[in-house]
Amino acid sequence: MKNRKNLIQILALGPVIFIPVVVFIIASFIVSAEKVSYEHSVAQISQDYLENEKARIRSKVNNMVNLVAYRQSIIDQKLHERIQRRVDDAQRIAIALYNHYSKTMTEAELKELIVETLRPLVWNGGESFIWILDFDGKFQLAPNYLRHLEGQSIIDFEDATGRKVIREEIAITQSHGQGFLWDTFTKPNEPIDKQFKQLAFVKKFGIFDWYLGSGEYLDTAKKITNSHLLETINQVSQGETDYFFVIDTHGNLLLNYARPDIVGKNMSKTTDKNLYGLYRSIVKASRDGSDEFLSYKWINPNTGKPDTKLTYVQNVPGSDWIIGSGFYPNSLVSSYNVQEQRLTNQHNQKMRHIHALTWLGMLASFLISAIVSIIFYRVFLQYQKEIIQTNDELKDLNIELENKLLEQTYIIEKANTELENFATLDGLTSVANRFSVMNCLKHEIERANRFKQGFAVIVFDIDFFKKINEQYGHEVGDNILQVVAGLIAKEVRSVDTFGRLGGEEFLIMMPNSSLDAAYTYAERLRVLIEESRFEQDINITISLGVASYSFGEKLSELMHAADIALNEAKDSGRNNTKISHRSVS
Ligand code: GH3
Ligand code: MG
Ligand code: MG
Repeated sequence: MKNRKNLIQILALGPVIFIPVVVFIIASFIVSAEKVSYEHSVAQISQDYLENEKARIRSKVNNMVNLVAYRQSIIDQKLHERIQRRVDDAQRIAIALYNHYSKTMTEAELKELIVETLRPLVWNGGESFIWILDFDGKFQLAPNYLRHLEGQSIIDFEDATGRKVIREEIAITQSHGQGFLWDTFTKPNEPIDKQFKQLAFVKKFGIFDWYLGSGEYLDTAKKITNSHLLETINQVSQGETDYFFVIDTHGNLLLNYARPDIVGKNMSKTTDKNLYGLYRSIVKASRDGSDEFLSYKWINPNTGKPDTKLTYVQNVPGSDWIIGSGFYPNSLVSSYNVQEQRLTNQHNQKMRHIHALTWLGMLASFLISAIVSIIFYRVFLQYQKEIIQTNDELKDLNIELENKLLEQTYIIEKANTELENFATLDGLTSVANRFSVMNCLKHEIERANRFKQGFAVIVFDIDFFKKINEQYGHEVGDNILQVVAGLIAKEVRSVDTFGRLGGEEFLIMMPNSSLDAAYTYAERLRVLIEESRFEQDINITISLGVASYSFGEKLSELMHAADIALNEAKDSGRNNTKISHRSVS
């Protein structure tokens, strides 16, 4: 009973513990998932910063390479435009002078005015100039270093390759009015075997038999463009840690915003092993066109200490230039620390929310489950009370039923006993009746035959009983029957069977008894009755016949033998005992 109550309490209290525990477990899962995601994000930040910086540097270098490649690719075109513009401008000035002074000056004065006006038009330190020749090849306007040739014909002048370039110019201006031509020259301050390609533009003047020309060396044009490009690149280098460097494939450092001290030096000739190694790897990486960054130690200008530097280099297509830029990954740390701090703050705030929600959830679930538990507990108790009540009622009912059953059983048993008695006892004398006596005899015969144990029977009959009835009445007769039966019943042994055969005739069956023993016994009974006192002093005697069972004979044969002996006793004057005289086996 107590155990059951404990069980109900455990069952009712179960949800109070179980539900908050489940809430707690779910919250723990959320917390650990959030933690993993936070740690992953933090780890990702530095990676992202590094990748972003790499992408930025890559695109910066690629854009610059494209710009430089474009600008270098149009050097030729620009060169054409530039020298044509110079000649056109010079011709416009000359024609303006002619138009203005032709009426007031002689032809010789005019020619001199034009020549002297155009003479100062020189470019690139005197390397480029305007020249004027007539169609006979006579120099009208010569550069300063050839001024002694003015007035002389240089029609057969040959360039470094032996081409008669003056004749070619005259042919172009006479047939087309104007045109370009490439020729090859040596330079005054350069070795004599070094030849330089020059683009020339010539144009018919249209007034005298003159033509005008101008030219520029290709390498000069390139130098000009490259120096403009280097200037531009230098200008877009925004700071000491965010700059470009330019180096050519021969190792000449053309530009380094952060280290102007080493600009102009040739890295391929350095004795510094590390610097030489760096030069080699820069040239190799630029040739590969790889997207990878070179990693090496370099003095970080911000800290003045050696630091790991990542550098990206690209070769400018169609050129020997290599443009590069790089960064110090360590300088990103402060930037991504800020981001990391922001993420940590977000994470901490999220964790606080989760914790608050967890406690709130646990409290709410605890309260709800406590209410549910109380309801459960009450319902359980009510239910239990009803069950106990029903149980008690059932118990009472059971006891009542058991009592009734006992009562019924007693009645039935009693009825059975009565029935049994009725079937086996004689109604008047309460000794065994004829049916019962015959039954016993049948069984005893079977037993005797099986175990070869004989038995004896005594049959007796009250003498002159009819007269007693007649003289004293039937009731007295009944009483005498009862008293005689009672006296004999008291006397017989427990192993013997005694019963009434009918009327005033009785039988005693004596197992395991000899004929003589039975006879002796019969005599004793006869004497007992003879000496007994009956009501109204009536004298009662009995006559007895004794017979013993012969193995194998039938009951009727035994009874017949006993009857004969009884009849003999009657015949002999009554109140005596006779033995069956048949041969005994
Ligand atoms: P005997 O000496 O030859 O036996 O003479 P008897 O008169 O006893 O024998 P008989 O057989 O002629 O008579 C038996 C009588 O017993 C007849 C009957 O009226 C009487 N009787 C039989 N049964 C009962 C009974 O249950 N009650 C009474 N009162 N009398 C009985
Ligand atoms: Mg009789
Ligand atoms: Mg009789």
